[in-house]
Amino acid sequence: MTELTYPPIAKVALDVPLRGLFDYIVTTEGPVPQEGMRVRVSFGGRVKIGFIAACSEQSAVPAHKLKPLTAILDETPCISADILRLCRWAADYYHAPLGAVLAGALPTRLRQGHALPETKADMAMEVIELVRLQGHDLNQEQQTAVEQIVAALGQFKAFVLDGITGSGKTEVYLQAIAKALEQRLQVLVLVPEIGLTPQMIARFTDRFAVPITLLHSRLTEKQRLHNWLLAAEGKAQIVIGTRSSVWAVMPRLGLIIVDEAHDGSYKQQDGVHYSARDVAVQRAYQNNIPVVLGSATHSLETLYNVAENRFTTLFLRERAGAAQLGRFKVLDIRNERLQEGLSTRLIKEIAARMEKGEQSLLFLNRRGFSPILICHHCGWVAPCPHCDSYMTLHLSPQRLHCHHCNTVRDKPTQCLNCLGDVLMPVGLGTERIEAVLKKAFPNTEVLRIDKDTTRKKGSMEAYLEAIHDERYLILIGTQMLAKGHHFSNVTLVAIIDADSGLFSSEFRATEHLAQLIVQVAGRSGRAEKSGEIWIQTRHPEHPLLTTLLAKGYHDFAEGVLTERKQAQLPPYTYMAIIRVRGSKPAPLQALLTAAKLSLSVDNNEAVRCLGPAPSPMEKRDKVYHYQLLLWSYQRAKLHQALAQLTHFLSTAKNARAVRWSVDVDPYDTF
Ligand code: ADP
Ligand code: ZN
Ligand code: ZN
Repeated sequence: MTELTYPPIAKVALDVPLRGLFDYIVTTEGPVPQEGMRVRVSFGGRVKIGFIAACSEQSAVPAHKLKPLTAILDETPCISADILRLCRWAADYYHAPLGAVLAGALPTRLRQGHALPETKADMAMEVIELVRLQGHDLNQEQQTAVEQIVAALGQFKAFVLDGITGSGKTEVYLQAIAKALEQRLQVLVLVPEIGLTPQMIARFTDRFAVPITLLHSRLTEKQRLHNWLLAAEGKAQIVIGTRSSVWAVMPRLGLIIVDEAHDGSYKQQDGVHYSARDVAVQRAYQNNIPVVLGSATHSLETLYNVAENRFTTLFLRERAGAAQLGRFKVLDIRNERLQEGLSTRLIKEIAARMEKGEQSLLFLNRRGFSPILICHHCGWVAPCPHCDSYMTLHLSPQRLHCHHCNTVRDKPTQCLNCLGDVLMPVGLGTERIEAVLKKAFPNTEVLRIDKDTTRKKGSMEAYLEAIHDERYLILIGTQMLAKGHHFSNVTLVAIIDADSGLFSSEFRATEHLAQLIVQVAGRSGRAEKSGEIWIQTRHPEHPLLTTLLAKGYHDFAEGVLTERKQAQLPPYTYMAIIRVRGSKPAPLQALLTAAKLSLSVDNNEAVRCLGPAPSPMEKRDKVYHYQLLLWSYQRAKLHQALAQLTHFLSTAKNARAVRWSVDVDPYDTF
């Protein structure tokens, strides 16, 4: 037998529910094992693909119980050392198995063990002329912002680029990126959703002559792996991608931009519950490079980090170029006659815009016709058979639809309780607003944009083009329309329902409402025309609303931060949720009760643990959901408690049939 010249044990990360790494014996055939290489192993009688996380001289498992590596699949590591280190940090911070973090971080085909394809060689980076188009002459604040970012190249610094829509943030990114490219650095640009940002991508491809690659979920798996490789081989200079591209291997990464950094889509809501914004900052820290978080409505966490001097703010206080900011108007609809939720005043305003050939945009974050269908005789409401929730009425096609589990039913003709035959739709959805508008303006085409009208690939792009060509004067949409787009001919924006966000039990609801209002407002009044933003509410004197509208987002944020401090909520405390789900409630409660008891007394003082309690929607898609809510003033104590809980849950016998997850820094308590 030939002697091994390298450590005989490979510690392998596998995407399996069991925690920890798994030891395998290294054989003499094949490539020399290195961290970051893919391997094929047998695990529990099955073939699995994993990654070598470490090479070791010994194992705690007796030698006769160890199995050999079936095969090493790579000649060289396909995950770089820095990404492996980042994934280790995330596994630690989010209390997830390293194998699960890696699985979520890498293209599917890569972790299925496919051989890596050749990428096109002509993308090599011998580009002489980096910038194709010259940028704008910067205003003073933009100039300062670019200078500071460029000065920080080569060291860690977290910047908060704080400016309203149209203040020229993207222009700052572009000019800072140009300097990074001159230094032959790669740049990673995170965006909330690719489908919503075609205009932004066009600006990048128009501006730069360098190879740019996109990473997002609408690509086929083949394309995705190919684009990922372009980044990993250093051929792509700029990578623009959604949440999971924060893990993209980039050997010469020198700058990270997180656009619309407050956006909820940066938080992964299943599997490993990571925040791509926070991972981006950690990555910048580990790699010693600058990161820029850009937004008009930064999250309270970010603003808190600024107040604590961890992040540096770069303000852009004016709109760049000639554009003006719209004016807010509160539309008190108490005692107003409403046409299916729209006030007469608002309809008049839309008509006035139409006469001038200007567009109006109505925003309502609820699709379908009405969120409930109620019996006029007995009050019965059509429930979802699988969820603790009601079914939404849709008109085209006509049916009931549960937005939580996707169950679809014919619309009943009779009440299922009293057999009465008067069933009334209650509440507003986008379809209903569309119907009112069509009735009010029979000669005008109304464009509705929501998940239902944009299912077909490319339909969103086609609609956006139609809006820019002014083929529609009236637009109604959900948050799909609130993000990213600039509509220069929209001079009226209406928020149909601000009240539901003012009175929600979710502690982040008011923050999210304010962000949405400011974001929606930013859609209008670009170019030379200024816009108006009308907000329909029955609470015109609500202090949060009045502060936001009179003084702006920053004063609003300060007010909410004070409330959070008094209520001992994040960002003043650290929070986490342990969620469990299963087919019956009792075992879930029992498991969480036992888990809670496993916390040591010492922790109980520093860490508050609430529950077990049913989740806000206990039954969802036939499955029951329970949770423990933990919070603490000390991050370290919280993590210690989480480590105890995850240890308990991963070893408890009665936890085997139960699915559970840890959510550190939850976005909501759902
Ligand atoms: P944001 O990303 O903050 O929404 P943009 O960078 O998209 O802002 O800028 C808004 C508009 O103003 C764009 O059309 C952009 O080309 C233009 N712009 C940006 N900076 C300048 C400038 N310094 N001078 C003139 N126009 C500018
Ligand atoms: Zn009834
Ligand atoms: Zn349902």
